[in-house]
Formats: sequence, C-alpha cells, structure tokens
Amino acid sequence: KGVIHARVRVATLSPTAALVIVEDLSEALRLDAVRRDFVANVSHELKTPVGALSLLAEAVQSASDDPEAVQRFSARMQVESRRLTNLMNDLVDLSRLQGAEVAQAEPVEVDRVVAEAVDATKLLAGSRDIEVVIGSPVGAVVLGSEAQLVMALRNLLTNAIAYSPTGTRVVVAARRGDQAVEIGVTDQGIGIPEGEQARIFERFYRVDPARSRITGGTGLGLAIVKHVCVNHGGECTVWSVEGEGSTFTLRLPLAPAGTTEGDTPQ
Ligand code: ADP
Repeated sequence: KGVIHARVRVATLSPTAALVIVEDLSEALRLDAVRRDFVANVSHELKTPVGALSLLAEAVQSASDDPEAVQRFSARMQVESRRLTNLMNDLVDLSRLQGAEVAQAEPVEVDRVVAEAVDATKLLAGSRDIEVVIGSPVGAVVLGSEAQLVMALRNLLTNAIAYSPTGTRVVVAARRGDQAVEIGVTDQGIGIPEGEQARIFERFYRVDPARSRITGGTGLGLAIVKHVCVNHGGECTVWSVEGEGSTFTLRLPLAPAGTTEGDTPQ
C-alpha cells in the first residue's frame, strides 16, 4: 500500500539540463500477477483430472480379473477425460476472445443465434428432461460474430440446464429496444446467493466447486460469456433468487437501422 513501482531513467543532455523519464510500472506488475494467478489456477484445474486418470489407470490394472470393476473404472476415466477436454476447449475459446476485438463484425440475426444455441443444447436438455422454450422472434440485427454469440448463449443455456432440477423449464426470450436487444435465459434452478453474484463471471469462480465437479463445468463458462459481451460493446447481467431460479441477460447494441444480414458494414 502506498508504494509506487516506477522505473526512472535519466539522460544528461548538457551540463545544465537532464531528461528524466518516470515510467509507472504498477499496471504492468498487476497484469503480471493476474497472469501468474491464472497459470496457477490452470495447473491446479489440470491436476485434478490428470491425477484421477492416473489413479484410475492403476485401479484398472489391479482389477484386471474383475470385469465389473474394470467397467466402472473405465466409465470414470471417460468422465475425467471429458473434463480435461472441456477445460482445454474453454481455455482455447477464452484465450482467443481475450483482448481481441471481433475481427470481422458482420450483421448477425439475433433470432438465428437463439435458434442455434438452443439446437446445440437440445441433447443436454433432453437428458435432464428440461423443456427449453423460445420466445417470439424479434427480428433484431447486431454487429459482431455469430459464432461468438452462439457460444455465449450456449454457455448460458448449458448452465441453466445444469443448475436446474430435472423436469423444470428454461425460457430463452429476446426483447428489442431502441438502442439494444436483450436476450434473457431464465431457469427455475438452484439460484445464486446474492453475495456471490458479482463474482461468478471471474475465471474459475464457482459457488459450489463440488457441484461443478459433477456437472463437468470448467468454471470458465461465464468468463467466456463476459468476454463475448465486451467484444460486442454489450454487457451481461444476472438476476437471481436462491432456491427459485436465475435470469442471465445479454444486452447488445443494435446494428444501425437498415442493416440486414448479408450487408458488409463500412
Ligand atoms: P461452471 O463451469 O462451474 O458452470 P461458469 O463460469 O459457467 O462455470 O459459472 C460459474 C458459477 O456460477 C457456477 O459454478 C455456478 O456456481 C454459478 N452458476 C452459473 N450459472 C448458473 C445458473 N443458471 N444457476 C445457478 N448457478 C449458476
């Protein structure tokens, strides 16, 4: 506290004049610490499935005369490998998104983003007997990347499904305003305690790490959503009551009037 990290360089210009350059290093140091934390988190997250896989491989070896045990251990190996794959996929997505503006902003139809994201999570919803209901089309167009927007909405839907009891309902509905369009994903799930709501968009932050282990979540889903929103000049907010459900809302600026899909923005 109160310490200033700076680099000072002095060049003597003449016997009576000198040039002093003071460079503020605090931001660089902060970024360095964030990076180190992230690497530590990633290696911790990798250690869990890799450690489990190695123990399970040993268990399979020593149970070779018990086919039922071999079956059980191999099934768990599959779960752990899926966890590793999810983690690596999310890390790649996140690193592509960070700091990068949407390279090629194209007109994107919001209704299509909704339809594609719902389609991509159909199997998961079915496996948990969750009905996903889509609101009426809004005919809104935003400028950005369709792939990124589908990825963000898919992450919200995956969470809505994963953190809800079977047999409940998830509603995806878009609403078009003057300047922006809002896409809301509402579930009847476990909800998020108020005190945790501000932190869930942080990388690897989970309300209940044990539950996240069961769902196979990586803890990166909402960080990805946040980056997609920022890249599109929008924001993502959460409204939730513990034990009742949650609504996550993506708010994205509309494309200038008259832009339709297929147009190339200037
Ligand atoms: P995870 O892979 O753990 O789901 P996310 O970044 O997607 O990671 O979400 C972070 C945390 O936010 C989750 O671990 C969970 O505790 C909480 N969360 C996210 N979405 C929901 C939801 N729809 N209902 C309840 N909790 C949620």
